[in-house]
Amino acid sequence: MNRSRRARISPACREAARWAEAYLDGELPAERWPDLATHLHRCVGCGTHLELAARIRAALAQPAAGGPEAPEALERLRAFAHGLADGSGTDPGGSADPVR
Ligand SMILES: [Zn+2]
Repeated sequence: MNRSRRARISPACREAARWAEAYLDGELPAERWPDLATHLHRCVGCGTHLELAARIRAALAQPAAGGPEAPEALERLRAFAHGLADGSGTDPGGSADPVR
């Protein structure tokens, strides 16, 4: 038996994760925002897996927010995105087995 060790991350998804990370760091150029939002919207894997999607889309919807309301959550998301971009699989909330 050779079940997949962990979810495969496509290059596009890694790139999206990098964008997400940069976005959370405030370093993503505004011209990239639509690309990131589009990927998160179209990619089921990222769209469902990354809670980033909801936050980023919400943030994009109200660009004048001024700052994150929940720095701790953003920290977690940043770490998560970093792990994803890194391919090291930083998984908040549990390891390998999806079955509880
Ligand atoms: Zn994706």
